[in-house]
Amino acid sequence: SKGAAMVTAVAQRLMSQRQEIDDTLALLRLEKAQLRQVRDRMRVELERGLKKDSHDTASVKMLPSFVYRTPDGSETGKYLALDLGGTNFRVLVVKIRTGMSQSVRMYNKIYAIPQEIMQGTGEELFDHIVQCISDFLDYMGMKNSRLPLGFTFSFPCRQTGIDKGTLVSWTKGFKATDCEGNDVVDMLREAIKRRNEFDLDIVAVVNDTVGTMMTCAYEDPKCEIGLIAGTGSNVCYMEEMKNIETVEGDEGQMCVNTEWGGFGENGCIEDIRTKYDREVDEGSLNYGKQRFEKMTSGMYLGEIVRQILTDLTNRGLLFRGRITEPLKTRGIFETKFLSQIESDRLALLQVRAILQQLGLDSTCDDSIIVKEVCGAVSRRAAQLCGAGMAAVVDKIRENRGLDHLEVTVGVDGTLYKLHPHFSRILKDTVKELAPKCDVEFVLSEDGSGKGAALITAVAKRFCAET
Ligand code: BGC
Ligand code: MG
Repeated sequence: SKGAAMVTAVAQRLMSQRQEIDDTLALLRLEKAQLRQVRDRMRVELERGLKKDSHDTASVKMLPSFVYRTPDGSETGKYLALDLGGTNFRVLVVKIRTGMSQSVRMYNKIYAIPQEIMQGTGEELFDHIVQCISDFLDYMGMKNSRLPLGFTFSFPCRQTGIDKGTLVSWTKGFKATDCEGNDVVDMLREAIKRRNEFDLDIVAVVNDTVGTMMTCAYEDPKCEIGLIAGTGSNVCYMEEMKNIETVEGDEGQMCVNTEWGGFGENGCIEDIRTKYDREVDEGSLNYGKQRFEKMTSGMYLGEIVRQILTDLTNRGLLFRGRITEPLKTRGIFETKFLSQIESDRLALLQVRAILQQLGLDSTCDDSIIVKEVCGAVSRRAAQLCGAGMAAVVDKIRENRGLDHLEVTVGVDGTLYKLHPHFSRILKDTVKELAPKCDVEFVLSEDGSGKGAALITAVAKRFCAET
């Protein structure tokens, strides 16, 4: 009959629509063999970054941190710390006490950095930072104390000492002019001089991964790796000096800031990048750069989701085929929304409520598809981080000639902390891809603040001893 034929036609259309959605999601699926390839290519790039001959062209920069050892628990004192490069700018006072009740106490204030300043001139940016420090010192009544300061600066810096670091390139949402190629400690000192109101004793410039590792190592000596899975993505770890060809000396170890976010800048992961990744890259502040970061970190995952939803909508598979303003808005899917949407405790009705908050009218079917897209994007991100981490832990194991390595990773970052599945998938992937390593992940609360103070403490003492 005619009715039955119509029902069949509708059913067929629905099935082929489902097929199209599945085909799209499949672009984001990584097979075991592909993940092993990612691990192996990451390993190659780690080595290339360490070697003198290949360092300059390596996509993973392997920047020496001049942090030679992890804290031993005997550090003490009162320090000032700055934290720039995460979600906010913070100024902190950190008091470290030792003895029976080893403890760290902190006071901090959070300051927003407006986008015009992130993307204005370098002078404006550093003047703003010094303005915030001034406010904080007034607030604490500490204008004249001249405490030793650790500066957590979460961008790639080429360091030649613990208190010297040239910004290689801005990442994430920053693009202030006249900073790349300049020393960030000098820029801070000059801004302090321009203000001519107080003085600071800048002892250390620190990547957030290194601060995170140090904070965790303060409690757990097995912690030799720091991971940030937040707005950006990066790892540091303790490497043998003899393998770091870009630094004189063969004795002992140094922490290396891998800057693994740059992995793939030489084209070595093009086979797993999708057209959505390329669109995100094209719309970013640093086209062609940080390709691994753009597949794995909080600043970009929502953007990948938005690209896919836009494509599905254009193809009439979602939102009744209507592209609305929110879908065109860059940055609309923040990590916190992805985390909510993917929460297993949320009923679909609640997913629809979240989409509604963002201005997106969805049907029940739409909300299922959105949730699937989010899941595929964050799963791939966690797996890629896991594959990268497998390369790092296996390198440490081989460095030490061990059949089996037990190691702890100190972790921080909103993606790791807020997302309902990211951390589990990350851990499962590491287990699968580095079977000879026992890797424990420990949340390192506020590594950027505490860690900067610990590094400053270690650096101060190191100077006093030598
Ligand atoms: C930066 C790294 C930083 C990471 C996490 C990346 O964009 O290049 O230096 O560690 O973000 O904040
Ligand atoms: Mg060396």
